[in-house]
Amino acid sequence: MRISVRLSLAAVAAAAVSAAPLAAQLPASNPFAAPSPLQYQAPQFDRIKDSDYMPAFEEGMKQQRAEVDAIADNPEPPTFENTIVAFERSGQLLTRVAKVFFNMDQSNTNDTIQKIKGEVAPKLAAHNDAINLNPKIYARVKALYDQRDTLGLDAESKFLIERDHLAFVRAGAELSDADKAILMKLDEEESTLTTQFVDKVLAATNAGAVVVDDRKQLAGLSENDVAAAAEAAKERKLEGKWVLVLQNTTQQPVLASLTDRALRQRVFEASVRRGDGGANDTRPIVARLAELRAQKGKLLGFPTYAAYVLDDEMAKTPQNALKLLTDIVPAATDKANGEAARLQKQIDSEKGGFTLTAADWELYSEKVRKAEYDLDQAELKPYLELDRVLQDGVFFAANQLYGITFKPRPDLPVYQSDVRVWEVFDADGKSLALYYGDYYQRSNKSGGAWCDSFVDQSRLLGTRPVIVNNTNFTKPGPGAPALISFEDATTLFHEFGHALHGMFQNVKYPTFAGTPRDFVEFPSQFNEHWALEPAVFAHYAKHYQTGAPMPDALVAKIKKAKTFNQGYMTTEYVAAALLDLAWHTLPPDAPKQDVGAFEKDALERFQVALAVVPPRYHSTYFSHIWGGGYAAGYYGYLWAEVIDDDTWSWFKENGGMTRKNGQRFRDMILSRGHSEDLATMYRNFRGRDPIVQPLLEERGLAAPKKK
Ligand SMILES: [Zn+2]
Repeated sequence: MRISVRLSLAAVAAAAVSAAPLAAQLPASNPFAAPSPLQYQAPQFDRIKDSDYMPAFEEGMKQQRAEVDAIADNPEPPTFENTIVAFERSGQLLTRVAKVFFNMDQSNTNDTIQKIKGEVAPKLAAHNDAINLNPKIYARVKALYDQRDTLGLDAESKFLIERDHLAFVRAGAELSDADKAILMKLDEEESTLTTQFVDKVLAATNAGAVVVDDRKQLAGLSENDVAAAAEAAKERKLEGKWVLVLQNTTQQPVLASLTDRALRQRVFEASVRRGDGGANDTRPIVARLAELRAQKGKLLGFPTYAAYVLDDEMAKTPQNALKLLTDIVPAATDKANGEAARLQKQIDSEKGGFTLTAADWELYSEKVRKAEYDLDQAELKPYLELDRVLQDGVFFAANQLYGITFKPRPDLPVYQSDVRVWEVFDADGKSLALYYGDYYQRSNKSGGAWCDSFVDQSRLLGTRPVIVNNTNFTKPGPGAPALISFEDATTLFHEFGHALHGMFQNVKYPTFAGTPRDFVEFPSQFNEHWALEPAVFAHYAKHYQTGAPMPDALVAKIKKAKTFNQGYMTTEYVAAALLDLAWHTLPPDAPKQDVGAFEKDALERFQVALAVVPPRYHSTYFSHIWGGGYAAGYYGYLWAEVIDDDTWSWFKENGGMTRKNGQRFRDMILSRGHSEDLATMYRNFRGRDPIVQPLLEERGLAAPKKK
């Protein structure tokens, strides 16, 4: 996961300083008033106080407004310098404070920060809108866009004009005033409906919790889970009963343990019925959102809403995304059918006397997992000591591939005493970047793992990357080693892949930091592969006391476990991603849809209607696409995985972990940000477009049958 705190493209198009008199509105005692004097403008955590944020935000917005007004009102005709570059330079104070603030909001928050966030978020949204919708700025950008081939610009500068122009067009800058008003209405309605959707799904999920009267029915649950169910009942004033709370996905974790089949079916039914009728019916919202998004796509000049969204992604068109997903369907469903047969065998061997349903999948696949794939974490962990995984694994692999080295910088201030800082050096000994690691769980830190930056690289602004990784590993007691799971080790490699993308970035313009959703997980997922590369693994997976290497039998188990249940997991994901695209490729003149009928038809049309493998989310509770930012974008996770596995296959074809291969990948992908078309960038690196075969092999799925 990568949490991005970037402001909108146009606004982060950070910048500044053109007019120096603006600079002195904040007292010099405010650490954001000027660029940090520390190396690479590292944040002055020894000086920053919570009370510094709001004044810096206010002043940062004020400065950028003035900077943008100066560009808009410039009496000179537009030039690349006085418009596009001036725009890139604007908003540097705002960027400085926003970078630190939103990082602290994620990893070291408190009540004051929460309160500031509530106050500043709507102000930032309004600030961005005012810039993105400024017609005078757009007129200048448009004039430059029309002359872009005759301005004598280098490729990166020309691409910047195209990106800026596109950002305005996508926000509706080309529309007539009447159409702008329609767009604004559609946006407002969409925003209201998505909020309603989220509220209703939450209510439906709460209402769908399953009440159990008889303790015996809970057989299979651990004592802890039973206690949690009793506690949930108490909270609902149902003392003496048990309540099984629903999670957001179709499958429910509790189904992996419940041995009472009738209760399994009740839980499963409760899950899939969420939003499908009743007091929290989301179907009218789904149908209307699909309709209004199709209208919005048309208004902005696209045949469908998905065509509008994907035009700005690496995939470019819904056809490309659909092709990728449907190319995977035969292998994924074949494998899932094979897994279903294995589960049925398990049921039969226990004389279960019934046919497998979706409600039985988790329980029986857990039994098969234990019998055939079980990894005992207690056995593994002594070989996975955090510092060793980090320095002898993650850093070691990066050194082998890219030649970089790491030097601790305990002299630089941190926001929390567990945070560590390294300076990163290139193969030629030149300093490259700063890297912060915040690895331990805390009560004031968000869950999960992510990568972010305090400072982004830009040659225009003369900034170097200051990157941070966050994870949530349990902090060991004093003197005890931090032993982690193999999944945690993989997470370290993953987040460091994002960090490498940030640290190697070598672009001129700030706008080029940050890549679209279907690309951003590519460098991180790719970096995970090195966790199991034999030379890397042998270098870090050593017993923390004896230094002995991990026994081969354990290593073999780790590798085998990677392909467990992949038929199911791939199919449920692909089914949901296809549903998303089906909804968002409805033409603008389509009638309002019957949600149930539409979904059934789409799953059948794409040949993913497996009774025992339902979509990961049904339309009525698919919050990624109706409530979150993933409309027409859910495919992106798998798209990035296809590219990362395809890249891995390139390394294997070309001699694996060598400096030469690493350098090529760095030069052609990791250093480029979004400074050229991403599909072209990838094609230049790989020599062709990505194919799905390497992913099928990595996931252990059979090759697709010939039609
Ligand atoms: Zn990630």
